[in-house]
Order: sequence, then C-alpha cells, then structure tokens
Amino acid sequence: MPNTSDVNDFAFSRRKLLTGSAALATFGALGIGQAAAKAPMTHAAAPAVYRFKLGAFEGTVISDGPLHLGPAKRDLFQGLTQEVIDHTLDDNFLSPADLTLEQNTLLINTGDKLVLFDTGVGPGDAFGKSTGRLIANLKAAGVEPGDIDAVVITHAHPDHCWGLGVGAAYHFPNAQIYMTQADLDFWTDETKRSLPLFGSFIDPTRAVLLPLRDRMVFVKDGQEILPGIQAMATPGHTVGHTSYIITSEGQTLFNTADLAHHSLLVMQNPKMKFGFDTDPEQGAATRIRAFDMVAAQKLTIVAYHFPWPGIGHVVKHGDGYRYIAAPMLTAL
Ligand SMILES: [Zn+2]
Repeated sequence: MPNTSDVNDFAFSRRKLLTGSAALATFGALGIGQAAAKAPMTHAAAPAVYRFKLGAFEGTVISDGPLHLGPAKRDLFQGLTQEVIDHTLDDNFLSPADLTLEQNTLLINTGDKLVLFDTGVGPGDAFGKSTGRLIANLKAAGVEPGDIDAVVITHAHPDHCWGLGVGAAYHFPNAQIYMTQADLDFWTDETKRSLPLFGSFIDPTRAVLLPLRDRMVFVKDGQEILPGIQAMATPGHTVGHTSYIITSEGQTLFNTADLAHHSLLVMQNPKMKFGFDTDPEQGAATRIRAFDMVAAQKLTIVAYHFPWPGIGHVVKHGDGYRYIAAPMLTAL
C-alpha cells in the first residue's frame, strides 16, 4: 500500500508531466488521431475472435459487435430501482448512460462438423453501427460461412437470427438450421405484429426465417442434436428459448444463450422481470433453475450478452449469483 505522501507525489508528478514540455509536444504538434509512430493509427477494432479447447472440440467465440442500448432503464430491469441500476453500473466502472450488451456467437468444431450458435443481428444499422460484424470476424478466424454445417438458433430474436441474412445475402448455403418450432411459429406469426415492443420484429423475422423452412431441424428438449451437443429447453425469454450443453471427453460448456442479459444487474438480482422476455415470470424461474444447476455443477458457461468473450463461472452469492469471468487464454 502506498502511504499518503506517495499518493500525493504521484498526483503531483502526473500533473507536472501533463503540463510539461513532453505533453505539449505530444498533444500540440499532432492532430487528434494522428501518429508520428512507425505504424499508423488503425481506427478499427482488432478481429474479435477468441479460441479455446473443449476436450477434442475446438471452440471459437466470434463477435457480431456490441449492442449499445442507451440509458439503463427500470423498464428493462423490472423490480430494480433506478438508483440500484445506476449505482451497480457506476460502482463497476460501467456507464448507466450506455448500457452495452455483447453479441458472443459460438463456433464449435467437433472435428466432424462446424456448428455456429446464433448469428448476431446482421447488416443494417437498426441496432447501431457497432453491430453486423460476424461475417468479417468469422473470416478473420479462418472460416468461410459456406463451411458451416449447422447454425443453431437459440431463440428467434433479431440479435440471434437476423444475421442468417436474407435472400441473395443468405450467408450459410451449406448449413442446416436448428431451432424450436415454438419460436419459429411465434416470431413469424402475423397476428403478433400489434404486440408492443415485439411487433416490429415480426416482419423482418418472417423475411429471414420463412425461406429457410426446408433447411430447418426442429429441436426438442433433451435431444442430442449433434454428437456432444444437447438441447435444454429454457423458456421464458421466448417461448422456445433453448440453452445447450456441449460435452467432449468429459469437459462441458453450458451455452446459456439469453438466460441473463447482464452479468451484474441480472445475475445479482435473478428474480427480476426482464423487459424483453415474452413471459418474464417464467424467464426468472428458468434463469434461477438453470444457474442453480450451473453453480452446483461448477459448469463453465458461455453467455451471449456478457462482457467479451462471455466465458466464465457462476457461484451463488446472497440472493443471486456472482459471475466470474475466466482468464482469457493467450495460448492453447
Ligand atoms: Zn439476445
């Protein structure tokens, strides 16, 4: 621990540095964003690709880019006060004015099949300019979309299925699509156009999913859809929301999909009613059942909307859970 005078010395020398000639030379001579270094500024994120092993399988988390949802509001996290929401984010160095959810798609190479879980929100700026990066990041990971054998849609929300692409821009010509019939039926139902909040999803989702019907395999609870990949019905967020237990050589990864959208707000308060759930009460009950299982069995999870790359563990903590991000591997 530094003593008070050390801290003051640090503050003093930092201030001196910032007002000194070195700082003036750095900030004064160059325009913002320029560099005199031997490499230029890139002004672009490095490819968002994260690789790990799971027994004999190889996993890669691939980002479609973050969703910036604006201010974190009570109507999304029902049951929490605005004060709790703001303080929780602020105390964790996150901005209450910019609620950010990642889109961590998961690619599993079983050795025999390339299996992609969810596709992000796809092109277009309905969800902002930071999204729609899946295909570029997939290619950066050395995978062509045409190489993918199976696309598993955990549920038919825009940020999970619209990235399949539409018509000539359909991205996965050689893949079978795995999802529940319940979600296909719900999210392509024209009578749901009038629903508040969700109604605007219906027509674009029809355009994405209906042409793919003959490629679809409808998933059932408990079914091993591909060797080592087992479906687990986790309804509430949507009627057919499904999580996946992925196992190879005794190692297990639980793909939570959207059981929780925020690693702090929802995990600390799992009984909350989440504003984007079609059945928020069922969503909360399912969330608690699933995360109790994850905590008891000490499973590794991958969570679609948690901070990149969304891999970690869950322990019970007070009335909720604590999410502990796994250290990121820099070598396999
Ligand atoms: Zn989602």
